[in-house]
Amino acid sequence: MEHSILVAGGAGYIGTHTLVSLIQTGYRPVVFDNFSNSGIVAIERVEKITGVAVECIVGDIRDASALDSAFQQCADRGQPVSCVLHLAALKAVGESNSMPLAYYDNNVTGTLVLLEAMRRAGVGTIVFSSSATVYGEPEFLPFVETHRIAPTNPYGWTKAMVEQILRDLCASDPAIKAICLRYFNPIGAHESGLIGEDPRGEPNNLFPYITRTAVGRSACLRIFGDDYDTPDGTGVRDYVHVADLADGHVKAIDYALSSRSGQGFAAFNLGTGRGTSVKELIGAFERESGVPVPHQVTSRRAGDIGEAWADPALANQVLGWAARRSVDQMCRDGWNWQKNNPDGYPEKE
Ligand code: NAD
Ligand code: UDP
Repeated sequence: MEHSILVAGGAGYIGTHTLVSLIQTGYRPVVFDNFSNSGIVAIERVEKITGVAVECIVGDIRDASALDSAFQQCADRGQPVSCVLHLAALKAVGESNSMPLAYYDNNVTGTLVLLEAMRRAGVGTIVFSSSATVYGEPEFLPFVETHRIAPTNPYGWTKAMVEQILRDLCASDPAIKAICLRYFNPIGAHESGLIGEDPRGEPNNLFPYITRTAVGRSACLRIFGDDYDTPDGTGVRDYVHVADLADGHVKAIDYALSSRSGQGFAAFNLGTGRGTSVKELIGAFERESGVPVPHQVTSRRAGDIGEAWADPALANQVLGWAARRSVDQMCRDGWNWQKNNPDGYPEKE
């Protein structure tokens, strides 16, 4: 049977790429998104890539009745939801410092409302978008899943709190399965160049800043510090191609819906296991795109850690997932998206 997967936050950057992987693997995704950071064109682009119509319900995860009717709609036509893929969240670290209540409300309260609706609908399996940011300052590297959890900002705390809620829920009910995917730094875009990252307003992350500077939407990229204890002094992160990440979700759902997943709660790192510095990423991007990216070194960004990368062995052993695509390919695909869509998605097409 083709499983129906309710994809909360499915219209966003990681969600759209995951829709493509789900459809191409034979799952039937149903998007549930309030479009607070996305729009319908992204879904239409997924339809263009896959040739499959994607059902999209506009709703907020804090709205219990909207969720109830979404689950009911699927059940009524004989395609009950097997699993919820929960990507819906606010995700800007800086903004979470200035608007913590909005972050706890959207990300934590929203998840509680979603979990209650799942209980009413009899859906016991959830795959949750967590983040490497739950680890905070590394005690050692690479990060393994048993590393201490100690986020350094409200956004990270929303992820850590939801993980704890899921852990407690699984302990209370052996029928519930929850898989947390701790993403490292997703960048790049689908190889078609039709979908990609489209931050509203100022980007917060490095890669969209690089591509925006390359298309001339920003004059100069700031490198936040070159005095870290890293080979070239700039910050090191584990960049992972968004298409690899998308495949990781499919593997997690395969696993959660199989009899292999005995244990209720599990968390997995999704990263490549390799670190790349800011300067190395700029260099790779310039090489692959042939476009120079003007940059200057400024002071460190408050709250930044020097380096972070994953040990992805657990996801490899248990889920059978490994990142396959190189940093060069991330740069090529990310550039292909940005140059074809210099202003991001249009409102309509
Ligand atoms: P995104 O903003 O592009 O996608 C999130 C989607 O959720 C958007 O379409 C938004 O409209 C929707 N949404 C937000 N709040 C909602 C609500 N209350 N109800 C319904 N829909 C809602 O972000 P993304 O980069 O695709 O991230 C997806 C998930 O992965 C998020 O949970 C994010 O915290 C997590 N994550 C992202 C990164 C990253 O670097 N992009 C890293 C680690 C974890
Ligand atoms: N960074 C930078 N300039 C920017 C944005 C980010 O130098 O405009 C650096 C940042 O200090 C970090 C790396 O790029 O070392 C990745 O930052 P990002 O915000 O993308 O990811 P995170 O820090 O959340 O892992």
